[in-house]
Amino acid sequence: MCGPPGLPRRHRSVRGETQSEVHRPMMFVSSPVVADEQLTADELTLVTATAQLANDLDASGSGRVDATRISSSWYTRAAELGLTRIQVPVANGGLGYSYLCKLAIACSLSRVCMPFAFSLINTHNATAKLADYGHAQHIKNLLPDLLATRRFGATALTEPQAGSDFSAIKTSAERSGDGWVLNGEKAWITNAAFADVFICYVQTAAAAGWRGIACFVIDGTRAGFERVPQFELFGANAIGTGGFRLVNYEASDADMIHPPGEAFKAALGSINGARTYVAGMCVAMLGDALASAVDYLREREAFGAPLLEKQGLRWSLADIATDLEAATELTAKAARAVQAGSKDAILAAAHAKKYAARVTEQHILGCIQAMGANGLLASHGLGQHLVCAKLANYVDGSTEIQNERIATLLFDQKK
Ligand SMILES: Cc1cc2nc3c(=O)[nH]c(=O)nc-3n(C[C@H](O)[C@H](O)[C@H](O)COP(=O)(O)OP(=O)(O)OC[C@H]3O[C@@H](n4cnc5c(N)ncnc54)[C@H](O)[C@@H]3O)c2cc1C
Repeated sequence: MCGPPGLPRRHRSVRGETQSEVHRPMMFVSSPVVADEQLTADELTLVTATAQLANDLDASGSGRVDATRISSSWYTRAAELGLTRIQVPVANGGLGYSYLCKLAIACSLSRVCMPFAFSLINTHNATAKLADYGHAQHIKNLLPDLLATRRFGATALTEPQAGSDFSAIKTSAERSGDGWVLNGEKAWITNAAFADVFICYVQTAAAAGWRGIACFVIDGTRAGFERVPQFELFGANAIGTGGFRLVNYEASDADMIHPPGEAFKAALGSINGARTYVAGMCVAMLGDALASAVDYLREREAFGAPLLEKQGLRWSLADIATDLEAATELTAKAARAVQAGSKDAILAAAHAKKYAARVTEQHILGCIQAMGANGLLASHGLGQHLVCAKLANYVDGSTEIQNERIATLLFDQKK
């Protein structure tokens, strides 16, 4: 776990921080993405408990190395803490907490294991969507299992032939009597390897484009649902990406969560929050990688002196710290806009996600370089952070799509 003999054992869990500070993943920024003052006392208690969960996952040795799946016991513990209930309404057994609380939790877990954080937040989001818009029968039948992680949820927009261009999805829903028949295939869906409750976007009238898109809840235990094998990635497999086919899957009107005309807008309505928590996850991973590199340079001696005395190395990490500070501030700004429900969230989230994903991908390589061969050890988790930074450049709209969003707002401004 701690590398070749002769290397100092690294105590990455707390790094000398006091227990009350451990939920702050970013040691090198003047303020975190979410400040304590932005949370209620109950939310802060949950965020602090989550930091302890992250520390325990780290100490277990299973958080930083690639795995097909994080053990179900960690999901159970997360559910017991309340991490599947964060934004679920109190009336439905949830906590009714804020977006900022979810963001702080996503950051805290991503410091150790972004795949676990992303998987957990995705099942939480599907659960919250079902609680907010689902039919009473689904809330009664599906919600308790989702909240307890006896079942997992996922959100399915992407298809084998349509990713960035969401309006081009082809999975169809055709009227049949007083119900619907669904056919098509979804791909690249987080949690699809083990989830069986899907918030699924389908086309009801191809000629209508985005206006024809509707949203159904799909029960993966019913006839007509076929799971495809988990996609094998070069890391971060615990995200559980995969897909499924719908083959004459019969749905009722009660299964429809958003009707045509509303579903597309509903999907875009939550995208700024998703982009901002992906940015926050990047900031957490980069903060962690930088902390590992700084620790290493402090402890390592070469040519008769600590490596931290080499100005070239010091400056390379100082440059990373500057970009981390900028990414943190962009993310904090986007988070405030999302929390306030402001229109400014569109641009702020695009800037934050683009910048945070880009600098995290670039600078984790710099942190690995500063740590020499030891930076390659799986137990440090920098390899997993690197893969996750790469995938952060795709999920919830690629970096190029963020640029499209920014450019549109730039050029559409009236003189
Ligand atoms: C780990 C992981 C988890 C995911 N989880 C989910 C999930 O839970 N649910 C879900 O629905 N989807 C999920 N996705 C899919 C994700 O949303 C898509 O990967 C993303 O939308 C990009 O689509 P694509 O991969 O098909 O790329 P494509 O659309 O094929 O694009 C290919 C390249 O072209 C660029 N490009 C596309 N359009 C433009 C343009 N107009 N201008 C310039 N460049 C452009 C893209 O940025 C990309 O670099 C996940 C993906 C990954 C990697």
